[in-house]
Amino acid sequence: MIDRATKLLNRLSAAIGFLSVAVLGLVAFYWSGLSPELDSQLRLARDLTMKRPATGLIHIVEIDSKSIKQLDSWPWKRGIHGALVDKLNDAGVANIAFDVDFSSPSTAAEDDKFARALDRFGGSAILPTFRQLASNTGDVYTENVPIDELRRHAFLGSVNVNPDADGTMRTFARGTVTARTARPSLAALLAGTPGQIADTFRLSSTINPDSIPRHSAADVLAGRVAPASLAGKTVIIGATAIELGDRYAVDGHGIIPGVVVQAMAAETLIQGLDKPSMGATPGITLMLAGLAWASRKGSLRGRLARVFGSMIAIGMMPYIPEMLRLGSFDIALPLAGLSSAFVAAIVIDNIRKLQVARMSDAETGLPNQHAFAAQADTAGEGTVVVMRIKAYNSIAVLLNSAEIVAFYDLICARVRTGVGDHPLYKLGDGQLGWTMHDVDPVELTDMVDGLAALFITKIPLGRQEIVAVPAFGIASRAGATPAQALTQAELAVNAALSQGLRWVIYGDEMGNSAEFAQRMLAEVDDAIARREIYPLYQPKWSIKDQRIIGVEALLRWNHPEKGAIRPDQFIPVLEENNRIADITLYVFDCCAAQAAAWAAAGHDLKVALNVSAPLFADPLFTKNLLQRVRNIGSIATKLMIEITESAVVTNPDTTIATLIALRELGIGVSIDDYGTGQSTLSYLKRFPADEIKIDQSFVSRMLESKSDQILVRSTIELAHELGFSVVAEGVEDQACYDKLVEFDCDVIQGWHISRPKTAADVEALLTGAIRKKAA
Ligand code: C2E
Ligand code: CA
Ligand code: CA
Repeated sequence: MIDRATKLLNRLSAAIGFLSVAVLGLVAFYWSGLSPELDSQLRLARDLTMKRPATGLIHIVEIDSKSIKQLDSWPWKRGIHGALVDKLNDAGVANIAFDVDFSSPSTAAEDDKFARALDRFGGSAILPTFRQLASNTGDVYTENVPIDELRRHAFLGSVNVNPDADGTMRTFARGTVTARTARPSLAALLAGTPGQIADTFRLSSTINPDSIPRHSAADVLAGRVAPASLAGKTVIIGATAIELGDRYAVDGHGIIPGVVVQAMAAETLIQGLDKPSMGATPGITLMLAGLAWASRKGSLRGRLARVFGSMIAIGMMPYIPEMLRLGSFDIALPLAGLSSAFVAAIVIDNIRKLQVARMSDAETGLPNQHAFAAQADTAGEGTVVVMRIKAYNSIAVLLNSAEIVAFYDLICARVRTGVGDHPLYKLGDGQLGWTMHDVDPVELTDMVDGLAALFITKIPLGRQEIVAVPAFGIASRAGATPAQALTQAELAVNAALSQGLRWVIYGDEMGNSAEFAQRMLAEVDDAIARREIYPLYQPKWSIKDQRIIGVEALLRWNHPEKGAIRPDQFIPVLEENNRIADITLYVFDCCAAQAAAWAAAGHDLKVALNVSAPLFADPLFTKNLLQRVRNIGSIATKLMIEITESAVVTNPDTTIATLIALRELGIGVSIDDYGTGQSTLSYLKRFPADEIKIDQSFVSRMLESKSDQILVRSTIELAHELGFSVVAEGVEDQACYDKLVEFDCDVIQGWHISRPKTAADVEALLTGAIRKKAA
């Protein structure tokens, strides 16, 4: 539901985004004033792809270098112009136009020769007028017209040209008004399309100037041009000789003589290529259609292709009216709009990609803590749960990167099974977080306990099986932002880990947990001196001998203010702060003294003490320990050391060496909490140990769980094959005891036998218990 809404929103925002970016780009381009320039460049590019030949109706008789050389020098005597008119007249040309200045008189005889030739042509030849500045300084123009004598026998057409600032001829006038006299342009007269005098039209670069037939004036005068080729044509006479100047740049055709430009202008009109542009509306309409098309759902690539396709369509569109000679379209603005949308789409996509990268975990692709903190603050509802895998680093070193991804997949699957399908975030190494709604705190801790139970089953990864033990931190979202609640839940999970708890709910007393740890560390020495910290002893019962054959020393701290502090609460704190060595040596002394006392009293029992795995990496500790063992002599045979397998896994050589040395001095070695670590029994063959203690989590669930029962049974069998004695911890009732007897377990420890007790209570039990069990 939310997904669909977001999708719809995404699409809408895509459409609106595309449109607004396009409109912005369009308006900006309009304001820049660059669009007419771009349009004319585009038009030119199109013109040059569709070159048109001239009609052949207009011929040029050129006053070229050859003509100037052969006929006198320039300017010609007017009689030569007259002779030219007569020759053309004889050939039967329809119109004659001069692009030559006749505004000042020459000799009377020559002017007369020319005038009479014009008269013989029937008075329909066209002579040029052109504008000139009246003075060097002013901006008043005067019109130069041919001298009266010639004018009487001819029409007048203006040959003014208005090159753009860059010197290029692009627009042409249909006529000019000079000193209140309106006059059509020569081109308009020749084409017979007078139109609005003040109007201009665009010189069409599609016309190929080389296709306009040209004849040298010298050849015409010498009769070298076949009259038939000129019959019925319109002829413009003008200078093409370079030395006479009068040249203009025309887009796409270089610099060409003025008379050719006049001919091109006439051709532009004759061919109907002078229609004005129909503006930008058709292009903008097409742009909007293209944007609507592009914002439909699809990949970014697809969208970009659609925008690009629209641009091509708009780019080609003007060809239609241009080819049909109906005018043109302006497309610069819609193209600017679409390119802005195109660029914006790429930029936005890249920003989005960066955003996604920032919001997700590189290793697994799961959303990360940034994504968690960026969640919409829905007025603080629900509960944040953070789950951290204990000693994740020692798991991670066993896995390659593909297995790490698989590992997260599997733990995510367990979380979903345990607490339902919530979006899961990877908040750090071995740490996941999520938010739960509509659960009360009791229900929540039950769910978390249930989830923790799911992790008792090892995680299969390739050929290995990983034990992942989770701890949880829980924090309410009430009155907290997602980021704050996350920090609180992380503090809570830290507390859970340091206190050996499955979960901790963030609360007021939690905030003091660091302070609590500091106070504990400060008080621990005094507490030992005052005997507030002391060991209790929990009996171990041999099934074969039907008697207590040993005890395990378990520390107790009776704090004068706080009451009983569990070892789970203070031992991790001591371990973390490198204070565990001294207290372990203290326990050793207690155990050695107690073992000696019991031996003296005739009791045959072994006293076991727990030694934290990291201590085996501490050379000072091992030296001190071995020294003490030597000091007690034969009492050492009455002691055992319980260590977890992690000591051997993380530090094999030194640990094994120490264990061998201890055993040589007579101390027994017991592998504690078997089943919770990563190693298999066959790996533990390397362990110089006497005893395996199956962890109480498997023993206590054995009666309900088939798989735990199989584990316990096969562990006992295999351990026997390897020569280990087997202890089952956490036996709380007769049924469990009976099952272990059936499985041929050696030793039982648990409340069913006895809770941890003072040495005096154990002693009382020793004599009494033997009698009780024997009965
Ligand atoms: P552990 O070595 O696994 O000790 C066994 C724990 O199981 C003890 O908890 C014991 O009281 C409890 N237990 C025994 N029988 C039963 C039973 O039938 N049911 C249940 N539910 N629990 C039973 P405790 O005394 O709280 O000790 C907790 C842990 O603290 C120990 O686990 C051990 O890892 C650590 N610890 C205790 N004393 C020392 C010590 O002197 N040095 C070190 N390094 N660690 C110690
Ligand atoms: Ca133990
Ligand atoms: Ca244990």
